[in-house]
Amino acid sequence: MKIICVGRNYEQHIKELSNARPQEPVLFLKPDTALLKSSEAFYYPDFSEKIDYECEIVVKISKIGKSIPVSCAKNYYNEIALGLDLTCRDLQEKEKANSLPWTLSKAFDYSAPISEFIPLSKIGKDIQNIDFSLLKNGEVVQSANSSQMLFTVDEIISYISRFISLKVGDLIFTGTPAGVGSIQIGDKLIGVLEGKEILKCEIK
Ligand code: MG
Repeated sequence: MKIICVGRNYEQHIKELSNARPQEPVLFLKPDTALLKSSEAFYYPDFSEKIDYECEIVVKISKIGKSIPVSCAKNYYNEIALGLDLTCRDLQEKEKANSLPWTLSKAFDYSAPISEFIPLSKIGKDIQNIDFSLLKNGEVVQSANSSQMLFTVDEIISYISRFISLKVGDLIFTGTPAGVGSIQIGDKLIGVLEGKEILKCEIK
């Protein structure tokens, strides 16, 4: 199982970090050791002074595939979740300044808290029309609709699968909207998908 993440997939988030708008999806990986089940605490590690939350829609791959055309990509998933792409922003700034990969800032242990998966059939809406938000200590800090993605889920799946075969159970983090910010010990994060609180993470 692998976790593939898309960076810079929402216009307003690109602006808030002063990044360039990509011509093609920006991709990076997290290992399976990054996963953290919803409701389990995240323990603040000693190697970073600035960890940011990034709330994202996560797609679970349901069928093996390679070189998947955009028009067929819908056949390769049927469940989504909410996830946090926790990022050591201080380490990432150093990596970016030195043109190094984002491995340590993005792939560290428990950097991917994730909710249960919900069948799209149960949600009853197109994957590019999903409302989601993140609350920090009861206050909405991120709120978006998946229609705001620069690259759609189907385009992302097609693009990834030209380079990397997709297997059953692989997860795709589809990028974060604007509103990212730091976490502190004691914070309580709640992810809301279509009005339902499905992701909980307390920082300890
Ligand atoms: Mg992200």
